[in-house]
Amino acid sequence: MSTSLHTERAIDPATRAAPQVAAPVVPSETPSEMSSEMSSEIIELRNLDYDAMQALALRLGQPRFRGEQLFRWVHGRGATDLSQMTDVSKLLRAALANRVHIAELGIELAQVSADGTRKLRLTTADNRVIETVLIPDDDARTLAAEESARSASEDVESEDGEDEDGPRRKLTQCVSSQVGCAIDCDFCATAKLGFSRHLSVAEIVSQVYLADRLLASLPADDPTRRAGGERVTNIVFMGMGEPLHNIDNVLPALRILLHPLGRALSRRRITVSTSGLVPAIDRLAQEGLPVNLAVSLNATTDAVRDRIMPINRKYPLASLLSALRRFPLEKRQRITVEYVLLRDVNDSLEDARRFPELLSGIPSKINLIPWNPHPQAPYQRPESARVAAFQKELMRLGYTVFVRKTRGDDIDAACGQLAADRDPRAAQARKLARLPVLPTIPESAAGLSGGNGLPL
Ligand code: SAH
Repeated sequence: MSTSLHTERAIDPATRAAPQVAAPVVPSETPSEMSSEMSSEIIELRNLDYDAMQALALRLGQPRFRGEQLFRWVHGRGATDLSQMTDVSKLLRAALANRVHIAELGIELAQVSADGTRKLRLTTADNRVIETVLIPDDDARTLAAEESARSASEDVESEDGEDEDGPRRKLTQCVSSQVGCAIDCDFCATAKLGFSRHLSVAEIVSQVYLADRLLASLPADDPTRRAGGERVTNIVFMGMGEPLHNIDNVLPALRILLHPLGRALSRRRITVSTSGLVPAIDRLAQEGLPVNLAVSLNATTDAVRDRIMPINRKYPLASLLSALRRFPLEKRQRITVEYVLLRDVNDSLEDARRFPELLSGIPSKINLIPWNPHPQAPYQRPESARVAAFQKELMRLGYTVFVRKTRGDDIDAACGQLAADRDPRAAQARKLARLPVLPTIPESAAGLSGGNGLPL
């Protein structure tokens, strides 16, 4: 386990940026070109995808291209303030100021792991706490995976589905989709928080814009930046929450992140991970958003899966696997099958040998995740020899198998360890189980501040 670790406490809540819950609109001088039909509700611009932004322009009595202009500013450039939109007339900006709002998340705490992984604890306007993790990935593939690819002399592919096109720095952001989670997987720390609420579209995309700004503001020798670069290149919906439970907000967020005038990420660089909500998998399939799909299989029998993932009682293995069989994939695209390895629960060779029947007809690759410990669950991580044997058996059966490297577990940032809460008992338990945190460095010292000059 690594030892160099420090914690950055970024903002004093007392000085946090402008109130984010919109105040009621006081009718004001409306420019003549602006429609008076707008309701008095304040509109959160980061909630709007391309079509919605155009619809807003029309509702404001503005030409359609204004919508595109706003979309570019808000989602292409991550603008935090109308004043940055220099090609929008001052008059219109002034009128918009009473009708729209651009949300920002606050950074409550930022921790940097020895491996450069950075966990951000973020606050929403209503003072909820979520976490997002930045994972620099200059060596994304595990040795074992490289060996497997070499010996099988098949296409070399990285864990998240991209073809390797030579050495390239990667910065993967693990985003949250909900405050807490309702799925209640027995081995997961987030589950223990229970479910508070869905994140809005704005709160989902804001995690990415905030990370981009943070990275850009870091010195070149910062460990996250050195290993990962100055911009988020890949996004995985593997933070807090079940993204397909919040599909109504995740779909517009995906459209925004993919849109060439928005965040312009390639579909191969976005992965949505689900515990297996069958109707929502079908809905994602119908949307024509061919992002990567990852599914947390985690057991090879209904008996075990029922026990560790109660969602299985609603959508048992057979129904989940049929949904995967009908999920449309592009040529060479594969579904990522995630499998958390729990000692003596699901890590036997008999389990491995059940994969071919379960996954038949599903183009897939397998990600093994040795269980990451947290104080709230009675599980154990299998010995590394057992992990290796499980992987070897799956490889013998013809699968591409990655063992996910544990990143950032010295700061509780690894899979299943995200449990942003302010419960002192949980913090105490973590403290006992983990390393002490080192001195605090304000993230604002790196020049990160809101568009209005206030700290983020
Ligand atoms: N709700 C989504 C995404 C969040 S979790 C899902 O279930 O897929 C991302 C991955 O971490 C899932 O595969 C989940 O099974 C796994 N996971 C959860 N807790 C874990 C833990 N303590 N150790 C290792 N992996 C864990």
